[in-house]
Amino acid sequence: MVDSLLHQGKRRQLIKSLSSKYPFPDSILEALYRVPRHLFLEKGLDNLAYLDKPLPIGCKQTISQPFTVAMQTHLLCEVVGKFQKVLEIGTGCGYQSAVLAQMGLRVYTIERQKELSMLAQKNLTKLDYHTILTHYGDGFEGMPKFAPFKGILVTCGAPEIPEKLLLQLEVGGRMVIPCGVDSQTMITVDRISEKEYVKSEHGQYSFVPMLKGVE
Ligand code: SAH
Repeated sequence: MVDSLLHQGKRRQLIKSLSSKYPFPDSILEALYRVPRHLFLEKGLDNLAYLDKPLPIGCKQTISQPFTVAMQTHLLCEVVGKFQKVLEIGTGCGYQSAVLAQMGLRVYTIERQKELSMLAQKNLTKLDYHTILTHYGDGFEGMPKFAPFKGILVTCGAPEIPEKLLLQLEVGGRMVIPCGVDSQTMITVDRISEKEYVKSEHGQYSFVPMLKGVE
């Protein structure tokens, strides 16, 4: 499978529909336009890639809906800029990681399912995203070796905000995390000093759960 004029046209339509739903900055829309979402999906689903919908990626997991990817990227990039270090929890097939790399961020990403971590690595290498570091492990632990991060983006529904991740956030940095069990509230947490954090809420979403341990 390759990127084609047909896919680019469908991608342009998707970007148009996203911008009609929310006034995303051009930089976010451009990043989503640059990443060929169909190349992260298995054959047979690639024709659905440019609908604004989550889709299965195996291991009972899903690639996030493009609107959700755009919104999480937007909330993160209100604070995090080019060349800064971010940690993503829930690599899945690697699509959101690619969008963050396309925004010029240095991406570290953790996935708890071995099969998906390998799939993401394969997808990202194939598309020449060499600056993304994929790690197979439990996102509740973060990556203390590479901390602090200017941004932390969680792409699975967390039962609560993990303490260990808060400690790996740089002062002046932001975490974007969907929180809740049945449905999730999108939360931003800004670390404003060594000990102070400011939380805000950004609407309801639906994510696969953040689970402990690895598979
Ligand atoms: N970022 C992906 C979203 C994948 S869905 C995208 O671009 O589409 C969320 C992913 O989070 C799933 O692959 C799931 O296995 C993973 N996940 C759940 N709990 C986790 C944890 N504790 N650590 C790391 N990954 C986790």
